[in-house]
This record gives sequence, structure tokens and C-alpha cells, in this order.
Amino acid sequence: MIYKRSSELFVAAEKVIPGGVNSPVRAFKAVGGTPIFVKEAKGAYLYDEDGNKLIDYINSWGPMVLGHAFKPVVDAVVDKAKKGTSFGMPTQIETEIAELAVSMVPNIDKIRFVNSGTEACMSAVRLARGYTQKDKIIKFAGCYHGHSDSFLIQAGSGAVTFGAPNSPGVTSGTAKDTLLARYNDLENVKEIIELNQNEIACIIIEPVAGNMGCIPPEKGFLEGLRELCNKYNILLIFDEVMTGFRLAKGGAQELLGINADIVCFGKVIGGGLPVGAFAAREEIMNYLAPLGPVYQAGTLSGNPLAMAAGLAMLKALNNDKDVFKRLADKTEYLHKGLTRVLDNKKITHTINRVGSMISVHFFKDKVVDFESAANGNNETFKAFFHSMLKNGIYIAPSAFETWFITDALTYEDLDKTIEACNEAF
Ligand SMILES: *Cc1c(COP(=O)(O)O)cnc(C)c1O
Repeated sequence: MIYKRSSELFVAAEKVIPGGVNSPVRAFKAVGGTPIFVKEAKGAYLYDEDGNKLIDYINSWGPMVLGHAFKPVVDAVVDKAKKGTSFGMPTQIETEIAELAVSMVPNIDKIRFVNSGTEACMSAVRLARGYTQKDKIIKFAGCYHGHSDSFLIQAGSGAVTFGAPNSPGVTSGTAKDTLLARYNDLENVKEIIELNQNEIACIIIEPVAGNMGCIPPEKGFLEGLRELCNKYNILLIFDEVMTGFRLAKGGAQELLGINADIVCFGKVIGGGLPVGAFAAREEIMNYLAPLGPVYQAGTLSGNPLAMAAGLAMLKALNNDKDVFKRLADKTEYLHKGLTRVLDNKKITHTINRVGSMISVHFFKDKVVDFESAANGNNETFKAFFHSMLKNGIYIAPSAFETWFITDALTYEDLDKTIEACNEAF
């Protein structure tokens, strides 16, 4: 494949945008080479500025669970745009999508919409601190909760790829209130809680981690966190920005049968437009302004185009009773095919998969936390990435990212992907 036009566009972009991109992982720094400029996308395919067609496994990092340019979403947005794009006043569609989201997700009564996953997690933590009147939070190494200051302590994916887990600009005052724990290590969490008695407002976690590659919670881990939270009066925040409306209608809470106190959303909930949200039981949500003392606001929050896209997406997922099974089946098929090829070629690897999230770790043992994820062979990943790309398969340009399976993928696409893997080694 030729990337002449992409290269030219990147040179132009670099002059006026730092690193040529508006979000760091897009820049190919971890794999080398020039980022690909997309012209358009439809279903499971990307069409780039050089005229190449690629099978897409990042899907805008998760939102396009039903494929690109999904007609109900596009129609809803076009229709709404003609009627005005923002008012800063309440609209009926905000209630409509809120009602639908509350009906799909277990254990929530009220939801507030924001503009990104970052905002959702940042606001959820502020709410937890206000509600419990405690300051400290526990987060897990390798989990990513957006780029707000208190989370940039060993965050996953982008932050790790760039070797800047503690970003300059985050003050030591902020960092000291974020306590770092090991994913899948309940004893470690217990120790931290005991050392910080009556100081911890919340534990925030990706219930299925997706920002250090895909890492499922081990049996008993989330259950254990739930018990600790009950015992010590700590709120459990599930960051379902990636897993929400992807693993099941009700996200990881439903799939794993565990209730969180506050749930954060992003990605799928916006159908590809900039949307985030956080939700909880009534007594917690009523702590937010204007009802309660915890302040949170947004000029474009609940934006009509974004709500139209999100509503069309949630309706499509809610009305299709087989969609999550189809997604899981396709992902399992891919998992089996990749395993067959990699075993055949004697390539050291571990594949993790939950629902429609899957990742290939080039590591010999189980990958259960940030440390084991970081031990993967990055040279193998780089070569794999470029070889897949040459064969028309676009996976995320970092070993720390999950592949997102979309319902638009056909079994023929999956076979092509498995065949490309076979050619990569
Ligand atoms: C993507 C992501 C975020 C951040 O969302 P943005 O919309 O990029 O701000 C937060 N948490 C998780 C789990 C994510 O995957």
C-alpha cells in the first residue's frame, strides 16, 4: 500500500498541530511510520486519503460498535442539525436518551450527560468526594480514566506508550490524593485502605480493563472490591467508558453481575459524537448542582446532535436482542483463528478476550495486570502491526490497546484478518 498523500498531509499537520495529531496515540510513535489520514468510512471499512481500503479494528477506539456511518445515527444527526445545533436550554431528547439509558443499565436512577469520557470520570470522582466528604481515591496501574490531573498516575495506553505515566503539569498536591493499586490484586487494595483509614472517597476501575490491552478481572476481584467498599464506606466507580453498551446492554455491571455506585460512560453512548455521561442511584446523583452542592456544568452538554446520535445508537442496541451475542461470537471466532495461526508458527503469545474486546499480548504468561502487559514483546508487536497494515488490516498502533470488534465485520473479514496474521510471521 502507498501512503504518499497521508505523508504529505501529516507534514502539513505537524506545522500547526503539536505532533500533527489531536490525541497522542494517533501519531504512530509506538510503532514508527506515518499516521494514516482517513477520508471516509463505512461499515467495517476505512478508506484513506491514498485510496486504500482497510478493515478497521479500532472503530474510533470503541464507539462504532455497529460500524461506521451507521444509517440510523447519520439520519438522526442530519435531521437534528437542520433544526439548530445548540441552544443551552433543555430539550426533550435529553430526557428521552436518559430514560433509555436508565432502563438499559442496572442500578442507576439518574444520569448526567457531558462531552467526553474524561469529563465523565473527572465529574464522577468529584461527586464521590463531595458525597463521602473524603479526599483520596484509589486507581489501578494501567487503567485509563481520561486525562484529568488526578488520573495521570500510571494511566494506560497513550500515557504509557509515551513513557510519561506521571505527566509534568500534574502537581504533587494532586498526585498525593491518588493511591495506586495493582489490578487483580485484592490484598494490595486492602493494604492501601488500611493505611488510609477513613480517607478514601472512591475506588475507580475499568471493570474489564481495556487500556493495557484487554485484561479481564479475575474471579472474585470485583466482588472483593465491592465488599471492601461496603465495609469502609467507599464508593465503587465503574469506568464503563469502554465497556458500557459494548459488553452487554447494561455493560460490565450486567455481564459480571456486580453493582457499582457510580458508572461512567463515553464512546458507544455517543454513537461517534462527543458524549460522556455518569450515572448513579438517586441519592448520589441528587448531590449534584443544581439540587446539591457538587458543581458540574457544560455549555454543550446534552447537545442535540450528540443526543440524537446517542439515542439512535442506544435504540439500535436495545432493540436487537442478539447483537451482543453476535459480537461475542465474531470475537471468539477471531480469537480461535489467531490462536491457531500463532500456535502453528510457535509465536509466544497470550490472547485476552471479553465480549467484543480482544487483544494479542506477545508475552509467554497470563496477562493479568499492568506489569505483565508491559512485559510483552514490543518489537514483535511493531512488526506485526506493520505487516497487518500492509495486508489491509488496521489494528491500534500500540500494544497497549484493545481491538474493538464491530457488528459490521463479516466472517470473510475475520478470515482475511486471520490470513494476514498468518502472513505476518
Ligand atoms: C476512552 C476512555 C476514557 C476517556 O474518554 P475520552 O472520551 O477520550 O475523554 C476514559 N475511560 C476509559 C475506560 C476509556 O477507555
